[in-house]
Amino acid sequence: MELPKRYDPKTAEAKWQRIWEERGVYRFDRHPDRPIYSIDTPPPTVSGSIHMGHVFSYMQAEVIARFWRMRGMNVYYPFGFDDNGLPSERLVEKEHGVKAIDVGRERFVQMCLELTKRYEDEFRVFWRRLGISVDWSQNYSTIDRLSQRISQRSFIDLFRKGRVYRKEAPTLWCPECHTAIAQAEIEDAERGSTFHDVAFSCEGQDLVVSTTRPELLPACVGMFVHPDDPRYKALVGKRARVPLFGHEVPIMADERADPEKGTGVVMCCTFGDTTDIAWWQEHGLETRIVLDDNGRMTELAAGYRDLSIRDARKRIVEDLDRSGLLKDRRPITHVVNVHERCGTEIEFSVATQWFIRVLDIKDDIIAAGLRVQWCPEFMHTRFRNWVENLKWDWCVSRQRYYGVPFPVWVCQSCGEVVLARDEDLPVDPTTASPPVEECPKCGSMELEPERDIMDTWMTSSCTPFLNLKWREPDSRVERFGKTEGGVEYLMDLRPQAHDIIRTWAFYTIVKSILNEGKVPWRTAIISGHILRPDRAKLSKSKGGSAKTPGEVIEERSADCTRYWACSSRLGVDTMLADEAFDAGHKLVVKLWNASRFSIGRIEDFDPAAPRKLELIDRWLLARLAETVDRATRSYTECEYHGAVEAVESFFWRDLCDNYIEIAKRRLYGDAAQDAEGRRGAQFALYTALLSSLRMLAPVMPHVTEEIHSLFFAEREGEESIHVGGWPEAPAEWRDAAALEAGETALAVIEGMRKVKSTLKVSVAAPLTALRIHCDDAAWARIEPLLSELRDVANAKTVERAASATAAFVETPAQGVLVEAELAKETS
Ligand SMILES: [Zn+2]
Ligand SMILES: [Zn+2]
Repeated sequence: MELPKRYDPKTAEAKWQRIWEERGVYRFDRHPDRPIYSIDTPPPTVSGSIHMGHVFSYMQAEVIARFWRMRGMNVYYPFGFDDNGLPSERLVEKEHGVKAIDVGRERFVQMCLELTKRYEDEFRVFWRRLGISVDWSQNYSTIDRLSQRISQRSFIDLFRKGRVYRKEAPTLWCPECHTAIAQAEIEDAERGSTFHDVAFSCEGQDLVVSTTRPELLPACVGMFVHPDDPRYKALVGKRARVPLFGHEVPIMADERADPEKGTGVVMCCTFGDTTDIAWWQEHGLETRIVLDDNGRMTELAAGYRDLSIRDARKRIVEDLDRSGLLKDRRPITHVVNVHERCGTEIEFSVATQWFIRVLDIKDDIIAAGLRVQWCPEFMHTRFRNWVENLKWDWCVSRQRYYGVPFPVWVCQSCGEVVLARDEDLPVDPTTASPPVEECPKCGSMELEPERDIMDTWMTSSCTPFLNLKWREPDSRVERFGKTEGGVEYLMDLRPQAHDIIRTWAFYTIVKSILNEGKVPWRTAIISGHILRPDRAKLSKSKGGSAKTPGEVIEERSADCTRYWACSSRLGVDTMLADEAFDAGHKLVVKLWNASRFSIGRIEDFDPAAPRKLELIDRWLLARLAETVDRATRSYTECEYHGAVEAVESFFWRDLCDNYIEIAKRRLYGDAAQDAEGRRGAQFALYTALLSSLRMLAPVMPHVTEEIHSLFFAEREGEESIHVGGWPEAPAEWRDAAALEAGETALAVIEGMRKVKSTLKVSVAAPLTALRIHCDDAAWARIEPLLSELRDVANAKTVERAASATAAFVETPAQGVLVEAELAKETS
């Protein structure tokens, strides 16, 4: 079977994607007896289109799934969609130009379901086009019934374990999205602002405060100064009058008041920031809420009632100025907390919210993080830092519509919480009846359904449970879970990007240890981000690149795009640069051409007939053994980039540039009559080519499959390269002497090529003599290869130079230096 002259990725890729699916090549449990390797695939957020960053980070798990499948594992590689919660709601609001609150719950949920379905269909087509080897029958969506049931079950379990509480408390609030949010959802953003020096009065004296939030004056409940600040020592314990609003507040000392900042006097408002909340709690201060949940001023703001924050600020500053109470103002840039989904500055709201208690078990969470193997390792530090700096319990209630309901009713007279029964899950308490008619504690009939929905991370933190069908009749927890080095874990691999360590990784670890008492995974691999050439992070919220990934694949092929995605190390941010695509293209072409040429020489190879391995064959196999070792280790450690590098170097340099050249007389020249010698060369070539294809198959599944199917599949008795074996290097290949001899011979060949290129003649130009300057040891190594060297150099003779001259004092690679004497006819 001869390979066609050209390889057309467009038709070949589509063909193989179809065949793989028809044959179920990637189906989980095709071989139920094999050991399981399970992957906790990130369900992409359904909040808009896919960008190259998705391709980049999804490729890590994809390559590793293929590797373990070839290593004989029963690979569980599912796909999910994260389509519940705020990101999807915002997408619907944007696409339909509506606000959830105006549309109403039922209609809005319907709109969300329709829109996310459409995006999911597009996503699926795209991932298939990339050749991703997931088993599409192992599919979930975070809004489906299983996900709802497991999220609710997990919540009820946490409630019974005393981990859930409901409390009226200051909560981080996004006035734009109109909901409570968690600490993990806030980001720092640098914003321009103005410091206003505002005069309070204390016993007839001005007491000046610098503030960026003059609109919070009506919410002021206290003043703080540093205990050692001599300017204000005498004032501590007295009271100050708030300008414009006239109420009096206590002046107190606290270490957290920074004497260097502004005038050194800080006003405490309920609530401007987290320090305000701490002071309010510790000093038992009054509560004065001046902003409602829509970001408008309340009646406490008197004449400024119903104004937006911005308008209130403007009017209050004008009025202060008019009354001579504004002493100064100056622009500043400062860091504020914003909601990561919409960029709006965070406010605080006091409302009843549901929380999961985590602050008291920080040490346990850190210890659990240490039992997970992080790749790269330093990502564990990010996890640890996040946990150490946590200030809030996990607020899990959201005042939105599209998400998983809380499976609870609350007694209106005594506050008792009534939980749904497990057999009734999933429930929507707004439409279902509670399992009891009256409050089990006080007998009241007034059981009100909880109308809030759960934070979307409450479901995405359950992905190992969704995959393992946790506490379902067909639970896989026993079957998938493993113990290694005393650590019990549920799944083998979690791939994800580094920006969601503080959310997805953190919450999943919390759930796994609290609900199941195990860590969720053995290994977490963390990818970097894709940067545009201007080094900006590529992401859906900020525009992304000009070309969609679909267009990139159309233009560059799936194999090239995958190669690009594997061209950098784990955890490192990567540029979206053309060079890696070009290198991928070159490799595809070279794989095709080299295979086409080689297959012509090994078509009649009979592996059963006797063969004789020459020194150079043994060198190639020794190099192959080294390459198999390195690639296997790299893939095992999830460092696929190192694997590709090793295989490419073997394939280009050792196999194509040198071995085929060196062995050409035995493969197809005048020495081909020596049947055993020829079969030796054929064996080395067959093995090296097939092994290279196998080791590149995880990264370039299409071109390797095409070549494999045309020649190797039948000979190896394999239906696909992707379910075939991984190359093994037997002990007899590890021949140190052959390795050294081959490397020295390669140094001679490379030297000879350099000399010819300096002389500006072709590499095939005939030589009268090739003289080698080297020591005795090097000469002894290459002596058995002289006839091969003579062939490659196209030289009449290859000889050892009589003595080293001054010109040859430097010894390049392998201690050899080459001198070539051109034959007269070419010069
Ligand atoms: Zn928001
Ligand atoms: Zn009650």
